[in-house]
Amino acid sequence: MKAKMISRRGATAQSGNRQDRESNRRRRKFPSSTFRVTHSGLRASASLRETGLKEKRFGIAGRGKPHGLAGVNLHVLPAGPIQTNAYLLTAPERGEAVLIDAPGGVWADVAPILAAEKCVLKELWITHGHWDHTQGGAEVVRATGAKVRAHVADRVLIETPDVMKRFMGGELHLEPIHVDHWVTPGETFQALGATVEVRHVPGHCLGNVLFYFPAVHAAFVGDALFRGNVGRTDLPGGDFGTLEKSIRGQIYSLPDRTAIHPGHGPETTVAEEKAHNPHVPA
Ligand SMILES: [Zn+2]
Ligand SMILES: [Zn+2]
Repeated sequence: MKAKMISRRGATAQSGNRQDRESNRRRRKFPSSTFRVTHSGLRASASLRETGLKEKRFGIAGRGKPHGLAGVNLHVLPAGPIQTNAYLLTAPERGEAVLIDAPGGVWADVAPILAAEKCVLKELWITHGHWDHTQGGAEVVRATGAKVRAHVADRVLIETPDVMKRFMGGELHLEPIHVDHWVTPGETFQALGATVEVRHVPGHCLGNVLFYFPAVHAAFVGDALFRGNVGRTDLPGGDFGTLEKSIRGQIYSLPDRTAIHPGHGPETTVAEEKAHNPHVPA
C-alpha cells in the first residue's frame, strides 16, 4: 500500500530558443513560479499553475483498498522544449520501472531516479508519435535496452520522425525509435505486477492510445484529453469528431474516479472532465 505519486513539476512551457529553454530549466528547480504557456498539445493556450512537489498514492481509487500496485511510485517528469509530461513508474521492490513517453532530454531526469530506487527500466510506452513525446526515446532505449510499445498508426512518425520537422518551429534533433510491440486496442498485458489495458483514442493524431491500470483506476492518455481542454486537431491525422468520439467512448466510459494523467499539464479525473470540460461535455 505504499504506492505514491511524486510530481516534481506540473506546468508546461513553450520556448523557441536556447535562452528560453535554459530559463525553463531553472524554473523547473523552483516549482513555486507561475507562467503562461502555449504548447503543441493543447487546443488553445492556457495558463497553468505549477503544482510543485507533492506526494500521493498512485491511483486515486487505490486509497485504503488492497490493489495490485503496492510499492509503485509515479514520478511526473515534464521535459523537453514544450514541457511534455513523461511518467516514470518505479517498483523498487521488484527492481523494475516503466517510462510512459520520452520527451527530449528526459533521460537526464530518469537516470538518477532509477539509480536511487535501484530499478531497471524494462519498457517505454509511447502514447502517440508526436515529436515532443518521442524525442528522447532513442537515448532512453540506448541506455537501458527498454522494450518499446506503440500503436502502428503512428509508425511513420516514430520510425521516420523527420516528417514532423515542419511542425516543430525550429531545428531539433529527432532520432527514429525501434518499436518492439505494436499494441492492439483492447489488449491487456502485465507490468510491474499489475494488469494494463490499452485503448485506442485517435483524433489528436491517428495512433494515440491510453494505458489504463484498472487496479488503481489510473489512465495515461497522451494528448487526447487535458484538464479543462482537449488535444489540438489541426495537425495531420487530427479530427475533432474522431477525438470527441474517442473521449466519450474510451475515456468517459472509464470509472468516474479514474485519474487522468495527460501528456501536458496537471492531472484530472474522468468525473471532473465529464462535468467541466468545455470542449467535450459528457
Ligand atoms: Zn504533446
Ligand atoms: Zn501530440
